[in-house]
Amino acid sequence: MAHLLITSGPTRQHLDPVRYLTNASSGRMGRALAEAALALGHQVTVVSGPVEVSYPAQAEVLHVISTEDMLAASRQAFRHCDGLIGAAAPCDYRPIKVASNKISKTGEPLRLELTETPDIVATLAMEKQPHQWVVGFALETEDQRLRALAKLERKSCDMIVSNGAEAMNSLENSVEVLNRAGDVLTAITGSKEDVAREILRVVQAHLIAAKK
Ligand code: C5P
Repeated sequence: MAHLLITSGPTRQHLDPVRYLTNASSGRMGRALAEAALALGHQVTVVSGPVEVSYPAQAEVLHVISTEDMLAASRQAFRHCDGLIGAAAPCDYRPIKVASNKISKTGEPLRLELTETPDIVATLAMEKQPHQWVVGFALETEDQRLRALAKLERKSCDMIVSNGAEAMNSLENSVEVLNRAGDVLTAITGSKEDVAREILRVVQAHLIAAKK
């Protein structure tokens, strides 16, 4: 049995107490991955941003709001885990200034200055121990395979799940799972539950079994 950390859902980066930047991630892929991992007998910790979906009762779930919170919770949890599957869609930018009161309308354009947030998958992959592994996701709208492989390399992942924009906030997904050599380990289209079971089968065969 392995202990898997799964990041899931979007994060929020506040501009003021009531407004925030986010994205359309539903958390469904993360939930399906948690279910598939539990079904194989693994222990699961989920670090999730704000979502409507509920996670399986057997999973430990840590709720976070911002990308910085997701990184802190994931870093802490990863110490006790064998591997990470980064299925979250963390908000990549945050406003440099967060107003402490609601920003009032002035009739003039409002210019936001944004800065990048930390990358959770890349950070944990950099810090991982030899027995640990990291699987990232890559959502691309063109040159999917090539860009996914570049991302795998840049973020030091052991494997990457390449999918298209149709994955966002939908019930279905169509993915390829690629390894560091650029081999397509599997390709599957189906419900997020089917896709998650197939991803876990490949992770089990190529990462969990190999690192035992
Ligand atoms: O660069 P991009 O956002 O497309 O990369 C997607 C992968 O990186 C996903 O696995 C996602 O969970 C992860 N990611 C992350 N932290 C971020 C942005 C993306 O872990 N701030």
